[in-house]
Amino acid sequence: MDSKTAAHPDAAGTAASEAAASPAPATASAGPFPMRNPAGGELLDDVTATAPSAIAAMVASARAAQAAWAAVPIRERAERIAKVKKRLLARAEEIAALLHHECGKPIEEAALAEVLPNADLVDYWTVSIEELLDESPVDLDALAYPGKVGRIRRDPRGVVALITPWNYPVAIPLRTIVPALLAGNAVVFKPSEVTPRAGALVASLFDGLLPEGVLTVAQGGGDVGAALIEAGVDLVVFTGSVATGKKIAVACAERLIPTSLELGGKDSAVVLSDCDLERAARGVVWGAFTNAGQNCASIERVYVEQAIADRFIARVVALTGQLRAGVDVGAMTTARQAEIVRRQLDAAVERGAEILAGGAPEAGSLAFPPTVVMIEREDTPLLQDETFGPILPVIVVESAEEAIARTNASRFALTTSLWTRGYERAHALARRLRSGVVTINNHGFTGALPAAPWTGTGDSGHGVTSSPHALAELTRPRFVLEDRSRAKSELWWYPYTPSLRTVAFAMARARGGAGFFGRIGALVELVAAFARRLLGR
Ligand code: NAD
Repeated sequence: MDSKTAAHPDAAGTAASEAAASPAPATASAGPFPMRNPAGGELLDDVTATAPSAIAAMVASARAAQAAWAAVPIRERAERIAKVKKRLLARAEEIAALLHHECGKPIEEAALAEVLPNADLVDYWTVSIEELLDESPVDLDALAYPGKVGRIRRDPRGVVALITPWNYPVAIPLRTIVPALLAGNAVVFKPSEVTPRAGALVASLFDGLLPEGVLTVAQGGGDVGAALIEAGVDLVVFTGSVATGKKIAVACAERLIPTSLELGGKDSAVVLSDCDLERAARGVVWGAFTNAGQNCASIERVYVEQAIADRFIARVVALTGQLRAGVDVGAMTTARQAEIVRRQLDAAVERGAEILAGGAPEAGSLAFPPTVVMIEREDTPLLQDETFGPILPVIVVESAEEAIARTNASRFALTTSLWTRGYERAHALARRLRSGVVTINNHGFTGALPAAPWTGTGDSGHGVTSSPHALAELTRPRFVLEDRSRAKSELWWYPYTPSLRTVAFAMARARGGAGFFGRIGALVELVAAFARRLLGR
């Protein structure tokens, strides 16, 4: 398929006809600033980069549009955004073809990871948003706070800057755009400069559904992302590398802008001797090589217990050997990333690692074969840093204890999988892991579950994607108290008198600051002090 057509907002009939009602989400530009694809170097003459100088105006229009959007009843917002599901599904083949072209993904992988879960995502949020945003009452003690009723509302943050990476350029943005818009925010979306067409496609799914300015796309690189933060947004939702995440955290800290940071990973799979070996081997091979390993939750370390190590490794090597280049495992997306992977592999081999399957391709090639490496020493970048490529290091351990200790020693802690038939023990081990997601006998796929929080700690960042926990980041609580008391004054209002002091300390004793007899005495004192207080003494 011609990628220009694929990225065009009107490529699907459904989208085009529904778009007639109101304008498409804008791609602001002071352009033309033609972009060059960093992956292939080709000139993207159908994608216009946004000038950093145009960003402030873009954020101002988003801010103006947001107030009106937040006033649209939640149900109506949900009805509009629910239409995105049909558009996504109707354009499944077009989306998969674009991702195949722009990122090198196998078509099946693109459809399974970047189209179908998004339909669930739209369903989940549009069906549950009214309930999730519903006001909740706060219980107030009627004696201490007579006539008062408190409620918590969840209000939108305002303008959300969404800055995303290239590895899942459709699914990752949608996981924030859908709930952020439903919550009443405006979103300025900056896709990765590596996948601008996928970014344009994501925005086109909302054509004609939103008032102008509610969803805008800023195309370009880090300078455009930085300008977005400088423009004074109300929340930055970032998914990307640790290095960029730290820069964004600093820029946001200077402006006191709240952030959600979803960063890198160094996931481990812990394979215990009582596992279903065939399932574990198949699951680990998929978890390591899906998306050519360019996945924050890619399995980048396997700790296998000694007792089954030989059989497990032999099976993993055999399964890896069956993977077909370009069919099961796509090409890597960027030459830069392929070079990082090659350097890490070379350094590990220099330190004694043994390549059991695959191996680095010719310099400059993006077709990095799935590679299994047997390794003992952990003091090498292949086990310390994020690899983000199709390499599976296998480490034999004495026990589950050792595997958990080694897993937790990483500065990353995103997801971990435990492979065992001993579920009770697995849950006990899961409680000791640092990672934000633990899967027992599976790996990584829970990023596709809209109701399940996706989150990490340490260098994996602190953001939360999906689930009501993510909604908590996209909104802020507003507490509203209503006082229907007929009293002319509150106990704690002026003037501060001796009787008020007596009330305060008698209350402290009555509420537990004294023993049984002390409390009885305090209650007697309270009655007398209240009476004096009412008389103004
Ligand atoms: P990256 O950090 O290079 O870029 C991410 C985004 O940040 C891009 O849009 C880029 O243009 C922008 N950017 C760069 N410099 C910026 C700056 N100074 N200010 C504002 N924006 C700036 O990351 P990448 O290479 O695109 O993505 C790969 C990384 O993403 C990996 O580390 C991977 O683990 C991580 N990732 C994490 C998750 C997760 O859920 N934790 C999911 C996917 C990817």
